[in-house]
Amino acid sequence: MICLMNDESMIVFYDERCADYASPGHPERPDRVTMTAKRLKKQSSLSLEWRLPAAAPEAAIRLAHSAVHLKNLRESNHDFDRDTPWYEDIERHALRAAGAALDAMESARKGRHAFSLMRPPGHHATRERAMGFCYLGSMAIAILNGMNSYGLRTAVLDFDVHHGNGTEDILHGNENVLFASIHQSPCYPGTGLQHRPPNCRNYPQKPFTPPLEYRKGLVQALEDIKAFKPDLLGVSAGFDAFADDPIAQELLEKEDFEWIGKQISDAGIPAFSVLEGGYSDALAELIEAYMCGLAGSLIP
Ligand SMILES: [Zn+2]
Repeated sequence: MICLMNDESMIVFYDERCADYASPGHPERPDRVTMTAKRLKKQSSLSLEWRLPAAAPEAAIRLAHSAVHLKNLRESNHDFDRDTPWYEDIERHALRAAGAALDAMESARKGRHAFSLMRPPGHHATRERAMGFCYLGSMAIAILNGMNSYGLRTAVLDFDVHHGNGTEDILHGNENVLFASIHQSPCYPGTGLQHRPPNCRNYPQKPFTPPLEYRKGLVQALEDIKAFKPDLLGVSAGFDAFADDPIAQELLEKEDFEWIGKQISDAGIPAFSVLEGGYSDALAELIEAYMCGLAGSLIP
C-alpha cells in the first residue's frame, strides 16, 4: 500500500517490552505488536515518528481505578478470569500501556495525531476489575486526565468489535465526555445493547453485518461525536471486526479500516488512537491501512 502524508508525521508510542509476557495459545499474543512494529518500520510511504512512552503515574490511574484494583494487579497471583491471566509483571505492563495512551493524548492536544502501539489492551477493564485481556482502562485514563488537567471536552470512538464496557463503566455519567461504541452483538462481553444516558451511545451490529451497513453505524457514531463538539477525540482502535479475525464474526476488510481512518481524519477533531483488539495474522496490515486513512491522502 502506498499512501502520502498530507501533513506532518504521525507519532507512534511503542515500547518493545510490551512483548515480554505471554500465555501459550492466548490470542492476545506478543507478535500482534512486534509484527506490526516491524512492518511499520520497514515501510517508507507513511511518515512515522517513534517515541518511547513513559509509564503512567499512580495519580493518573487513580482517576479511573480504585486503590483496591491497583493493589490486586500488584499483589494478586491468580488469574483474573479465564481470558485474563495474571502475570508477574502485569502491573508494570499495564502502567506502560496506560502511559502510552496518556502520551498519545498529550500529543493530540498539541495537534499531532498519535497511535499507541502497546499491549495489554484496556477497554474491558472496569474501575474495579481486570477482564477480557485488559487490566487498566488506558483510554479512560487518558480521557479523564485530559479533562482533569486541561478542562477538555472529550469524546471516545470505540470501533473494536467488542463493546468497550470498561471504558463505559468508568466514563458513564460524566457529561463532559461522550462515549460511542460500535460492536458486534451478541458477542463478548454481552453489554452495549442500547444507549446509556446521559453520555454513552452504543451501536450494536449483528454478526455478519455487511461492511456497508457496518459503515453506516460508524457514520452515525461519528455524527453524534461531531454534534457533541469535543476538543479532543480518543479512538479505541480494535481490528477484530476484520473478516478473518478468529474471535468475532464481522466482515470488514482492510479497505474498511482505511476508510475508518479517513472518516476520523475528516471529522477535523484533534485525535489519538490506542490499540485495543485484533487477533488475525493480518493485524499489521490493517493498522497500516488505518494509519493511511488517518494520513488522509491515498494512492490505490
Ligand atoms: Zn475486541
